[in-house]
Amino acid sequence: MADTQLMQIPGHIDPLPVARDITPREDGRVDLIGLPRPRIAELFAEAGLDAKAARLRSRQVFHWLYHRGVTDFEAMTDIAKPMRPWLTERFVIGRPEVVEAQLSSDGTRKWLLRTADGHDFEMVFIPDADRGTLCVSSQVGCTLNCRFCHTGTMRLVRNLTPGEIVGQVMLARDALGEWPKGAQSPGEGGGRPGSALRPEAPAFAGTRDHDDEDDEGGYSSDGRLLTNIVMMGMGEPLYNFDNVRDALKLVMDGDGLALSKRRITLSTSGVVPMMARCGEEIGVNLAVSLHAVTKDIRDEIVPINKKFGIEQLLQACADYPGASNARRITFEYVMLKDKNDSDEDARELVRLIKHYKLPAKVNLIPFNPWPGAPYECSTPERIRRFSDIVFEAGISAPVRTPRGRDIDAACGQLKTAAEKKSRAELDRLYAEKEAALG
Ligand code: SAH
Ligand code: SF4
Repeated sequence: MADTQLMQIPGHIDPLPVARDITPREDGRVDLIGLPRPRIAELFAEAGLDAKAARLRSRQVFHWLYHRGVTDFEAMTDIAKPMRPWLTERFVIGRPEVVEAQLSSDGTRKWLLRTADGHDFEMVFIPDADRGTLCVSSQVGCTLNCRFCHTGTMRLVRNLTPGEIVGQVMLARDALGEWPKGAQSPGEGGGRPGSALRPEAPAFAGTRDHDDEDDEGGYSSDGRLLTNIVMMGMGEPLYNFDNVRDALKLVMDGDGLALSKRRITLSTSGVVPMMARCGEEIGVNLAVSLHAVTKDIRDEIVPINKKFGIEQLLQACADYPGASNARRITFEYVMLKDKNDSDEDARELVRLIKHYKLPAKVNLIPFNPWPGAPYECSTPERIRRFSDIVFEAGISAPVRTPRGRDIDAACGQLKTAAEKKSRAELDRLYAEKEAALG
């Protein structure tokens, strides 16, 4: 693994080569963020340390990177003074560049971020009374083309690297001032007390997530704002499986960011062949963008359905490792007026969930509009009725309150480059994406 390697996404699902491991920098130094600890030790050894010293130093550095959030080797006080410039000459501790930070009237924050090679992507933080959720992107753009999703109108520019994915979480901790005391608060918002950003200063201490019945320790909300992570930003995480897995391993590592897997949810539009590996190798909660219960409608609005149909998808959910009544699969269902929102649709949704004996909850998402979107949101009465039918069948079906709509931070509104595509351009793009899907 000495140099940058190119690899195909497993299963030959996505033909795009992905930059892996180390992204070359002009100054020749190596960014350590995103690398597993043994890889850091390997690099230290390659740079001249003997194996034992490399292992020891990698352990120390790893702790400073992920536990203390420092971005400067000089701050690593248990590393001998002469060693620190040695590190600085060879390595860096990166963060995605912040291009713009926006704050919604409801407290939601959105950051426009930029990779070192100049690609823009977004990250959103949603504070709630009992939790704070960071919505993390996995790709710049998306290869898929769900018709109600603004990100779907972007071409895929590239997969984000593990460093760029875990870097979002680190940047959020920087901005929220949530590294343990005694550490430097680096990066954007460095040194500012977190309280300056606390919206309604909710009482976190001692509260628990409703869903996290058996949180397995290692991390508790502990007065922190950032308690949960959802892989629900830009991109399809299961089309960037290895990088998402490697990043989330750092997030879950007890010596790393130490966030429990029960507080992490990955959302997929239905990349069936990768779902089992997601459960086995990452083990986080699963959310599935179902959005429709008949082939015709799902083919239209979530076109990956033409490749992996509803039955296959639901069977993969039934087989998802680790799913249980205590850890339910979330079905996301966007409410589109006169498209997927009838009583009959709700009853079919119930039937399917029961037929596959799925430990499921349903998240009803009022459609968030964007310029040129071909759909409208269902009426509140329709959404309520839909929710009631599902609830009456014994399945939880809350309506998700849209957050951050005023800054285009709500589900499906994320899209960077501001250019507006014409209908004809969009049709062409969608046709290309569908052809690539095979
Ligand atoms: N690509 C993954 C992760 C994105 S998650 C996926 O599709 O699951 C974002 C969630 O918001 C998905 O359920 C997506 O279908 C939904 N969504 C997309 N556009 C939306 C919109 N305009 N309004 C409401 N929800 C939307
Ligand atoms: Fe991609 Fe998800 Fe948007 Fe579909 S909903 S286009 S998979 S980001």
